[in-house]
Amino acid sequence: TLDACIMDHLGNAGSVVYLKNIKHPISVARKVMEESKHVMLAGRGAQEFALKNGFKKENILHQQSKKDWKNWNKNKKQLKSLINEDNHDTITMLTLDSKGHFAGGSSTSGLRYKLHGRVGDSPIIGSGIFVDNSIGAAGATGEGEEIMKTVGSFLIVELLKQGYHPQKACEEAIKRITMKHDDTIDFQAAYIALRIDGETGAAAINNGFSYILSKNAKTSINAIK
Ligand code: ASP
Repeated sequence: TLDACIMDHLGNAGSVVYLKNIKHPISVARKVMEESKHVMLAGRGAQEFALKNGFKKENILHQQSKKDWKNWNKNKKQLKSLINEDNHDTITMLTLDSKGHFAGGSSTSGLRYKLHGRVGDSPIIGSGIFVDNSIGAAGATGEGEEIMKTVGSFLIVELLKQGYHPQKACEEAIKRITMKHDDTIDFQAAYIALRIDGETGAAAINNGFSYILSKNAKTSINAIK
């Protein structure tokens, strides 16, 4: 089951949750934003909406995922999330164009071995992403439950409004998670942020995540520390 959301410079938003058998949930989320009067569609209704809007039903279960799941199912003790890129497939993207228009999007299959019906932060406006064209945008990846409980992306954008640099705002949002736990945090959460003047920030609880920054035709891959 896939989740995604998208937000534009006018504050319009679209989201799908628990979407099955449609390859590009972010494109369906965009259709929800552009073609319906709603923000979020879930489950069968989201799939019906996708099919009506020209998307195809496909079997998107990867053979390797099926094999991994079967192995895991034999020994559920492996349930503990691993802090690495293999266990996190979320793509979150923020853009700022030459007209000063922001956009944000996030797309995911959620966490590995999630309970059936589970939805994380990625399709939740304010948690997975948030855009406020007057100041900036923020987005998240990682343990959705923690990100949702602190409404991380909205928090970062509000901190930008208060004058925080995007780097400091991301660090503060990470702190809001870590302060509720003891020192040994064995899950991952990460944020990226982009401000109207082009300044950026990125922070994570643990090492291992990276982000790509493209600016004035220059692209760099950066580790989030
Ligand atoms: N944020 C995603 C979720 O909780 C997971 C991830 O980033 O890998 O659904």
